[in-house]
Amino acid sequence: MAPQSSQLNRVRATVDALLRAARAGDSTDFDRLISDRDPTFPDRARLLYDNLSTLPFTTLQMRVDPAHFGLSEARRRLLGPDAWVQRGIVVWRLPGDAVEVEHVVWLTFLEAAGDVKVAGTIDEPAGNVRGQQPSWWLGPFIGREWNEVTVLAGLGQSLDRWVQLAAAAVANVRQELPDGLGGSWNGHVVLEAPATVRDFEAILSKPAGSYGSIAAVTHRAGTTGDAIRIVVNPRAAQLPERDLQAVIEHEIVHVATGSPNSPAPTWAEEGLAEWVSMRVRPDQRSEGTDELLARVRDDGPPRSFPPDQRFGAAARDLEQAYAEAWLACRFIADQHSESQLGLFYAELAGGSTLDEASQSILHLSEAALTAEWRAYLARLARY
Ligand SMILES: [Zn+2]
Repeated sequence: MAPQSSQLNRVRATVDALLRAARAGDSTDFDRLISDRDPTFPDRARLLYDNLSTLPFTTLQMRVDPAHFGLSEARRRLLGPDAWVQRGIVVWRLPGDAVEVEHVVWLTFLEAAGDVKVAGTIDEPAGNVRGQQPSWWLGPFIGREWNEVTVLAGLGQSLDRWVQLAAAAVANVRQELPDGLGGSWNGHVVLEAPATVRDFEAILSKPAGSYGSIAAVTHRAGTTGDAIRIVVNPRAAQLPERDLQAVIEHEIVHVATGSPNSPAPTWAEEGLAEWVSMRVRPDQRSEGTDELLARVRDDGPPRSFPPDQRFGAAARDLEQAYAEAWLACRFIADQHSESQLGLFYAELAGGSTLDEASQSILHLSEAALTAEWRAYLARLARY
């Protein structure tokens, strides 16, 4: 066997043994594979051990790519001339994930006394563009699986509270989702509640500072596959209980309908999610409703359903776009029927154009549907 590939085998054996030791709760075996040449690394390794040994994984593996990368000058001085970096693909799954989730991490290795040890997690090749990060890579996390809900909670987050909120929200969404939707949903929800806004953004692979005002996101977790998870902004934990519940219900509608993979226009996805969560508490209105109706009074109703770009995290009048989307779905449910709203959404999610979905379910052209919605908004604005 070539020396290169035998070293690769030893690296892989070290990584496998590390994960095995963590899952078995064997900190002695784990520590044996950790280098303390960087004196800050044992604490970092202990944090990872605590996460890996306690979180409710159903799968946890790591593949290590063969390519070696060098270290920065400063790190080489600290770790020695022979330390190197390799790319690892973590493959992990939580109860409720539809499939395994993969994330890229970078591991620093060195050889000491004939053993390959892990010496760091902070070295990356120059110019590396970071993708989504595993939550538990970023800081201490605790987790629990409870009925249809799996929650991972970062430092300072109440695991009990998130589990209760998510479980109640799953039940409400199940109750209120129009018939015929959610057919491919496994009925489970995986929710991650990180400690900081920065971690929230790192999990989503969004630039720092760009998602600070977004309460929660439902996304495809990992670099491949269709595991759909909810990630909540820690700032959302300060919302009043019923508002937070509504946020979680909104996100669970996205999970149930698979919106991150759906070809439906964003207004239909967001409108349906708002409509379901508002139905749970009929006295509530989508947040930008007052502003929207004031604008309708002043300038008339919007000319068309809101285009996808109005739902970007940095879009101006984002709340008004949500209110337009909510009232579009409420209009279909009120003026046609709830079951038609469900069928209409299902058509869009199946790839039909707006005109096709409207013709086949509501017997209206897109233009006629738009005109009816505009008249509905004008009537609402008069009250
Ligand atoms: Zn949404």
